[in-house]
Amino acid sequence: MRRVSNFTPLMCAALAALALSAGWSVIHAQSGTSGERAITEETYYNRSMDLPRELLRGTIDLHVHAGPHLTSSPRSVDPMEAALQAKAAGMRAIVYMDVMENSGGIAWLLNRHVDGIELFGGIILNTVYGGMNPRAVRTALYYGDGAKFVSFGAHSTYHLASQEGRIVDGEPVLLQDLYPKFAEQELARAIRIPLDDPVPDDLDEILRLIGEHTDVYVNTGHVSAEEALRLIELAPRYGIELNRVLVAHVARNDMTMEQQKQVAEAGAWLEGTYADCGVYPGGIGRTHYYPEQEYINQLSISGPGAPRNVGDLGRQIREIGVEHFILGTDYGIRGVATPVEGMRQLIANLLDMEFSIEEIRMLTGGNAAKLLGLDSY
Ligand SMILES: [Zn+2]
Repeated sequence: MRRVSNFTPLMCAALAALALSAGWSVIHAQSGTSGERAITEETYYNRSMDLPRELLRGTIDLHVHAGPHLTSSPRSVDPMEAALQAKAAGMRAIVYMDVMENSGGIAWLLNRHVDGIELFGGIILNTVYGGMNPRAVRTALYYGDGAKFVSFGAHSTYHLASQEGRIVDGEPVLLQDLYPKFAEQELARAIRIPLDDPVPDDLDEILRLIGEHTDVYVNTGHVSAEEALRLIELAPRYGIELNRVLVAHVARNDMTMEQQKQVAEAGAWLEGTYADCGVYPGGIGRTHYYPEQEYINQLSISGPGAPRNVGDLGRQIREIGVEHFILGTDYGIRGVATPVEGMRQLIANLLDMEFSIEEIRMLTGGNAAKLLGLDSY
């Protein structure tokens, strides 16, 4: 059981002054009587490097891209490294998101050999799996540790794939117009969520399967705002409570603030990732999904809710409410820090934006624990 001190900032400042006058170094994590560590809020003029690290303890990153991946786009960590680094930082759990493979097998393997941290996998219905594929979902639910999530596509949603393109003679051209094969083999298989009834058989079967497996959550995938709202409308029909639905960061980015509030009011979760906050290098593919070099996406498309920096994300969270957001890193690509370091940076930024310790714990662990069905602290 971890506790948050109810010291006021004034009391903290007084304690810090006392500590300094006594020649002690000011620390934020203090041993409690029963060996527990109570953490004090930091003050504006008394920020430290200790607190972000301390607040890593107990966090959950729902969005870790560990390897393996395409040879053109290696990951910064393999799944074992991701697990051991997260464990060493005191994190509670991570969720592997592999855009090529069902990560339930990797989670199964590592849970057998790494203790002290909970590891989860799931399936992303990209075109590697043929897109909307009930057989892939059914198998994933029973494979390895069983899928913890089912995602309706990342790179292989119609919403994203139809916007991918390249700069040709200085002008943006869509891949579907440049390469007929891309339109036939990728776009045609990319996931679309029809906005009206009837629900197609394959989507119907997938939602039915998720409805039957109450420990599994829906990741909307990188569909459009309207498609994500349609999934939220459909979920209850299949017995999927909305606290088991996570609106993926890309779908959330496509939403207006009003639509995001609608999601929050309905009871589904909103995902925010550190990777969306302007911390990825621009102008090059973040991750390569297609083995074909000519399919590298060079266009940057962002919707009304897409944060340009971490301040934007912070303001959105403030307006909608910390109780509706789950923050993760989306890290693992080689061009940026490791997922654990990304999580530490995210926490440091939240502290700089003056989110309280309690709020940070909700955003980086408590809310995710609810989605995962883990006990609260
Ligand atoms: Zn991702």
